[in-house]
Amino acid sequence: MVVTPTSSPLSAATAQPGQAPLASSQGLELRRENGQREVFCGLTSIVWLHRRMPDAFFLVVGSRTCAHLVQSAAGVMIFAEPRFGTAILGERDLAGLADANDELDRLVADLLQRRPEIRTLFLVGSCPSEVIKLDLAKAAERLTHSHRGRVRVLNYSGSGIETTFTQGEDNALLALLPLMPASDEEQLLIVGTLADAVEDRFMALFGRMGVPLVRSLPPRRSTDLPPVGKGTRVLLAQPFLSGTARALVHRGASLVEAPYPFGVEGSRDWMAAAAAAFGIGAEPVAAVLDPLVERGRRALAPHRDKLAGKRLFLLPDSQMEIPLARFLSRECGMELVEVGVPYLDRQLMAADLALLPAGTRICEGQDVELQLERVRAERPDLVVCGLGLANPLEAEGFATKWSIELVFSPIHGCDQAGDLAELFARPLSRRALLSFA
Ligand code: SF4
Repeated sequence: MVVTPTSSPLSAATAQPGQAPLASSQGLELRRENGQREVFCGLTSIVWLHRRMPDAFFLVVGSRTCAHLVQSAAGVMIFAEPRFGTAILGERDLAGLADANDELDRLVADLLQRRPEIRTLFLVGSCPSEVIKLDLAKAAERLTHSHRGRVRVLNYSGSGIETTFTQGEDNALLALLPLMPASDEEQLLIVGTLADAVEDRFMALFGRMGVPLVRSLPPRRSTDLPPVGKGTRVLLAQPFLSGTARALVHRGASLVEAPYPFGVEGSRDWMAAAAAAFGIGAEPVAAVLDPLVERGRRALAPHRDKLAGKRLFLLPDSQMEIPLARFLSRECGMELVEVGVPYLDRQLMAADLALLPAGTRICEGQDVELQLERVRAERPDLVVCGLGLANPLEAEGFATKWSIELVFSPIHGCDQAGDLAELFARPLSRRALLSFA
């Protein structure tokens, strides 16, 4: 899907469109581009959020294109009772001939009557709802009032005008944040959706290290929101939650600085930093983590053999590119040609940036044609990119990895390091087989 150029919320600098390096920081080469982008919009995040909170419903207020995108991103969702849907804005709504609010109210009343288990209803804005300036914040307020005691109605934007692929989750969490109660109780708050089994594993490990209380956001039940306050240490599990992180800090929480938990090194440092934030000494941490590190390294070894020395180009898509680049270069021996990222949040990326090899080229934003030209000129062994670019690049002879797969797969933690490396080794093996045939 082609999204017209926008400025990212965290990129306040006024660089001209162009490709000259803007700055050098920590020995890294930083560029910024602002042209046509090829990324999924924030509606995509509904695919993992609706699995995380089964008592929530995500109602996209958009067009048939939006409905098609969510359906395709989710694969063939043959649920008897799906937990997302689209209120399709028809031509009459778009032309202002019908009152879209009346139709929305009717549709929501009908949905809630049919689905008594829904506890939180998210109205998700789209490009069409923004173009006709449908005020979903007001609609959410009105619907919360008319269905008081039965359901909470919240709203956020997943529009491609405002969001990239993973920012939808950031916006959804920001919508939940005002409902989080205030408390200064000491707790570790893991922020960002994890696969349930991975989260259970982290909870058990933190418990064994002696972290007193661990909670997560988003919760598994949309109404079980964790409290937040001065005793809260926020540990980000995903690198695309800039708005949520800042809003939690605004509520009194402090941010644990650590690399993201991808690979053995990142996962170990992530858990160790959280333990240190509670004053837990190195010994109990090592007792828990050392066997995991050992096992993780063993699982990684066969994939490292395939990946070492291979050249990697990451196009901007998921916002996970910098920590993945750190993992793939340091633990898998890959050579980084370029690391693209939709927007560069230096604070949230600081620990991972510091671990990148000197001279790594980082490109913030996108001018897709120029980036593709660089891909063709550099002939990397592997390109990590969005779905829309993968097929054309494969047709040109490049091995590709879909970045969307990295958001849907359980890749966090030492236990998953081998599987994570395998996700990148697989396309190389496939291409090697094809060229052999
Ligand atoms: S929100 Fe915008 S970019 Fe996303 S599917 Fe709808 S029209 Fe396309």
